[in-house]
Amino acid sequence: QVTPSLDDTICSLATPPGVGGIGVIRISGPAAFAVADAVTRRPRSVPSASFAGHTLHRADVLAQDGSVIDDVLLAIFHAPRSYTGENVVEVSAHGGPVPLRRILSRLLTHGARLAQPGEFTQRAFLNGKMDLAQAEAVGDIIAARTDEALALARSQQSGRLSSEVAEIRHVILGVMARIEASIDFPEDVGELDTDLCEREIQDAQARIARLLATADRGILVREGLKMVLAGRPNVGKSSLLNALLRVSRAIVTPIPGTTRDTLEESVNIRGIPVRAVDTAGVRDTDDLVEKLGVERSMESLRGADLVLLILDAAVGETDEDRALRAQLGSTPHVIVWNKCDLQTPENAGPDDARVSASTGEGIEALEETIAHRALSGGVIDTGSAGAVISHSRHRHALEAAQARLDDALATLRGHMPADFISIDVRGALLSLGEVTGETATEDIIHEIFSRFCIGK
Ligand code: GDP
Ligand code: ZN
Repeated sequence: QVTPSLDDTICSLATPPGVGGIGVIRISGPAAFAVADAVTRRPRSVPSASFAGHTLHRADVLAQDGSVIDDVLLAIFHAPRSYTGENVVEVSAHGGPVPLRRILSRLLTHGARLAQPGEFTQRAFLNGKMDLAQAEAVGDIIAARTDEALALARSQQSGRLSSEVAEIRHVILGVMARIEASIDFPEDVGELDTDLCEREIQDAQARIARLLATADRGILVREGLKMVLAGRPNVGKSSLLNALLRVSRAIVTPIPGTTRDTLEESVNIRGIPVRAVDTAGVRDTDDLVEKLGVERSMESLRGADLVLLILDAAVGETDEDRALRAQLGSTPHVIVWNKCDLQTPENAGPDDARVSASTGEGIEALEETIAHRALSGGVIDTGSAGAVISHSRHRHALEAAQARLDDALATLRGHMPADFISIDVRGALLSLGEVTGETATEDIIHEIFSRFCIGK
């Protein structure tokens, strides 16, 4: 895919399709003002380009026959002081599908083309308004489903990750400069100070390691977790799901427009957006447990990040429970003894959770266990004001940089020629540059922006 030309003027609906108080159409590109002017009548026919930036102006959008489609407000932004860095007009119209569709089609016949998903933000990136990590964070803000996910996205958008990566790059560039100088001007700078290089590389590595340590939680908070509640009929799966919904501190905002399976609920567990799936389908006639039941629950367990295997404390563990437990294999899971209000479970293991979905007892502790297990036993680092990794893409790039710096250290210590060290160090710089986009390939960039919604 080729990067679409920046010479085009693009437009699209920026608000969700459907009915609302207002609907906003965004126009961006060199001809934004001309396109807007071609389809509107403004008081005293002043051209939009002469309006000051960041101002609002009334206008009528005209149909081809001169009749008024809608009266609107034009928000004017002059390049480079706009979201995209280009001339931008935002048309705020009445938020109905007919006026918005007709205004859009007028713009399309007057020199604008429809924007691709994410194209406005892609232009902001290409025009240097934000780097790649910040552009990704724009998508994260829109997609955030918990307060924590939003806070994480905001931090990344504000450039916290970018500036940390820039500082690491700065340290490595210093090493690079010294190596190059020792190659190019050995008589001026003398021997390469390998001790100093080593210290600086280690400094960079320590900083990368600090970033990588935040990745488990960051990625989890951004991407969420699929948790499956498994267990025989009547052990209390649905009741437990409801109990978790009751205690979850904040509602997880469901993604609009998705059809929601009634057996799937979104719960906020310690800031982690959890999709909890109730496997009501694991209903089996006793004889078919081995066959049908196993197959069915295998199906629902597939793709689970964490399974809660629920047992009935009043009944104890049955053969069917044991069959379910066996098929969990290496899938991360927690054994949950429910109905502990009726009876203390007899054979509960030390790591098993004990709850009562009816009284709510043990539910908060279960939440803690879930969050802990979701992080594979890692520490939940909440109050950290530092940069956080929340994309696997960033993690991979940093891991690659770390590996190249390992190589560089080995090369240094092996007293290899400076050219060799230079190759490793350069590789680390390239990997780091993928995070903020300096060295990201066209494919990566396309892939990132194509995941955006239309109009952003
Ligand atoms: P599911 O088939 O696994 O989803 O089980 P349900 O949630 O539908 O619960 C089956 C029955 O067990 C219902 O009558 C619930 O009221 C009851 N139940 C569920 N949890 C508890 C609990 O913690 N204590 C008691 N005493 N009853 C419970
Ligand atoms: Zn149920």
